Amino acid sequence: MKGPASANPLVIKFGGTSVGGGAAFGRAASIAAEAARERPVAVVVSAMSGVTNLLLGHAAGVVDRDGVVAGELRGALAERHLRAVREVVAPERRAEVERRVLALLDELVETIERPAESVKARRAGIAVFGERLSAEVLAGAIARAGVPAEVVAADPIATDRRFDEAEVDVDETERRCSRYIAPVLGGGGVAVVPGFVGRAPDGSPTTLGRGGSDLSATVIGRALGSSEVWIMSDVNGVLDADPRLVPDAMLMPRLSYHEAHTFAGLGAKVLHHKTMEPAAEARMTVRVRNTFAPETPGTRISADFADGDGVRCVALRRKVPMEIPCANGRRSETAMVVCIGSPSERDLKLGLRLLRKAKIRFLHAGFASAGLVFVVNGERGEDALRLLHGSLVTADAGVEEVA
Ligand code: ASP
Ligand code: MG
Repeated sequence: MKGPASANPLVIKFGGTSVGGGAAFGRAASIAAEAARERPVAVVVSAMSGVTNLLLGHAAGVVDRDGVVAGELRGALAERHLRAVREVVAPERRAEVERRVLALLDELVETIERPAESVKARRAGIAVFGERLSAEVLAGAIARAGVPAEVVAADPIATDRRFDEAEVDVDETERRCSRYIAPVLGGGGVAVVPGFVGRAPDGSPTTLGRGGSDLSATVIGRALGSSEVWIMSDVNGVLDADPRLVPDAMLMPRLSYHEAHTFAGLGAKVLHHKTMEPAAEARMTVRVRNTFAPETPGTRISADFADGDGVRCVALRRKVPMEIPCANGRRSETAMVVCIGSPSERDLKLGLRLLRKAKIRFLHAGFASAGLVFVVNGERGEDALRLLHGSLVTADAGVEEVA
């Protein structure tokens, strides 16, 4: 028997690619079920990959053709979710999950057809269905993996009325989590909570902003008194640079809250920029792990780690609003490379020397609150990022190269 809900539940968040189709749902479900054999587990789930874009695209495009467009959208979503249900939900539970998916799709069509109080309220009201749908499929898949699972449909995260990037009401969220999530955990089940979704005081649906399911996970973890949150995605953890721009980016096995917060704030895709706030406040450990390689340790972000030595990671900000006047009178854009961690004067000097040698024009270099910054000619931003990554980032002991 599992312990009571108060026994430190683990929160596991699955991103969109971790529930991108039947096979992915199956993997996610077995990770959740396995963890749930040891301790209470609340799962936070994103929409199936691409679904939020689809929903928001329709929310923007629907003008007069509501009936037609809503019908097409319903068909596309039914196809994707029902296929996943057939692949991962046990036959005896399938009809019930299908019924719930179809009921949500009816509700979506009604929402599309109903007038909303504002454009943002309408977008939020439509977007939340992505997570509601994936939660039903994932709960069905977890049940098949042998652990009872229940969707928490009551929108436990309380927010204000900023529909597209709502602010969390911490106290009310705690009350709602005790009321709607804790009983499921107490009964020995996995609670499956749609991520990204919030609820305004009048009950209208809100969203936490694009990529906000990560934040949902740490918000729920804080409310439940968790000590650990796993962010499951399709990469091995947090890399020390954007791997699309820096092919030899390396995995960082550990990060301080401050480093992770700064890196996420500068656009590191793997974590929503507000994720670390509840984590640091409640001193929860956040592990960023790969659903498709669950044996890899991933990145651990915790109160146990102080900022590391030297430069830990680098981020590129494009279109920095400081412009270089050009000879022809036009202005060219600038980009900024931010070196995060504990950079030194030596790093600054070395960076400048290398930029000069590579003939990358720079406008400014110096220490800012986020770290050591180099502002360069916009066209050379990526070159500067690779150069500074290669020479300034000090690899952590025992790091593993990421293919
Ligand atoms: N599904 C939402 C989005 O795509 C939230 C999330 O994935 O975290 O933005
Ligand atoms: Mg997503």
